[in-house]
Formats: sequence, structure tokens, C-alpha cells
Amino acid sequence: MKITCSDCKTTLGEQTPFDDPFKIYARCVSCLAKQKEKASRFTPEPKPGQKKEITLENGMKGVLWVPESKEEKLSLGELAVSGKRCFCSKYERVKCQNYLAGLKDEDVDVSFLHSMTCKIETSSKSRKKKQDPPKIEEPKKDDSINYNCTIRAPKHYVQLIFDDMAERMDRVLEILAEASLKACKEDRQKANTNDALSPMSGSKELGNPIS
Ligand SMILES: [Zn+2]
Repeated sequence: MKITCSDCKTTLGEQTPFDDPFKIYARCVSCLAKQKEKASRFTPEPKPGQKKEITLENGMKGVLWVPESKEEKLSLGELAVSGKRCFCSKYERVKCQNYLAGLKDEDVDVSFLHSMTCKIETSSKSRKKKQDPPKIEEPKKDDSINYNCTIRAPKHYVQLIFDDMAERMDRVLEILAEASLKACKEDRQKANTNDALSPMSGSKELGNPIS
């Protein structure tokens, strides 16, 4: 059996039985390094208090930072323009326009929620030794970290970001509304089916209400 790199298909070695055409996939050192490098590029991780320069997809330069106060934490659909938070929706559009018009600089700082990380607890309980004294569990903290991105952009561009985000939020709301409507309809249908069934009928019929 040949041991083959699953990425670049290089043969890394062989093992018994040698006449078996079946391949074992692994990853060679250089592909593994490439993969690690790629992963690290997509993990923005400035520590709290630090800033990290990044280049956004559109080529603009931005600064990533970790908001520490509640006021600085932005949610999806929010922008902070020159430090003032606003929620992107068509109802807030005029307000945002007026605010932008009132700022004297032509270029302004605009921040948005860039990404989030959350820690996944790895189970260490099963490996705990018996003689370990019982540990007092620390109260769970909110382990997710938000990353804000701040870019400096001309006012008219900020308006574009606002509109784009507002549109996207509309779409998100639409999807959520559709989903809840669907769930509601299904619930009602289920309730109707249950009503229609006689108390004697078995639960097997539940799955096929039409027949
Ligand atoms: Zn490889």
C-alpha cells in the first residue's frame, strides 16, 4: 500500500501489503506547512489592547482591534462612524446622512464587526486522574471575542457601506421571517392533523396525514 499526500499526491512511502493498490492518505510536511500558513492568514488575532493592520477584500486597509467596553462592541448590522454607533436600516438612513453631513472632515473612521471567535471546550474530564482533588469550577465567562475593524474612508463611501449593510440586514430579516412563518405553518398543520386523528389511531399515522 502506498502512502500518498492527499494534497500534492506525492508518494510518501509504502507499507505492507506491498501489492495492495489501496492508498493511504496523509499529508506531506510541505503541504502541512502550507495548510497551517493558510489557516493563520485567516485568523485575525490581535490581543486586547493591540491593533493589527489588515487588507480587506476590496483592497482597503483596515485595523483590527478587540472592543473591550460594552459601548465599543458592535453587533452585526451596526456601524460606528467617528465613534457614534448606528444601526444600518432604511429607517435610519436619513439620520446617518445628516450625521455624516455634520462631520467636518471629509474622511471619517468607520468601524464594523469584522469577525468573532469562540472557544470550544475540549473535554478534559475523561482524562482526569482519580487522585485529583475536586476542582471548583470557575464560573463560565463569555469566551467569544469580537474583532472590530476600523477603516478610514470618505463620507460618501461610508454611506455606501451603510446602504450595503442595511440591504443585507433586510435580507437576513426576510430569511428569518420566512423561516418563522414556515415553522408556524408547520405547527398549525401538525395541530390540525392531531385534531383530525381519532384517539384510537396509532402514532404511525402521524407521518402521513394526507392518506
Ligand atoms: Zn503534499
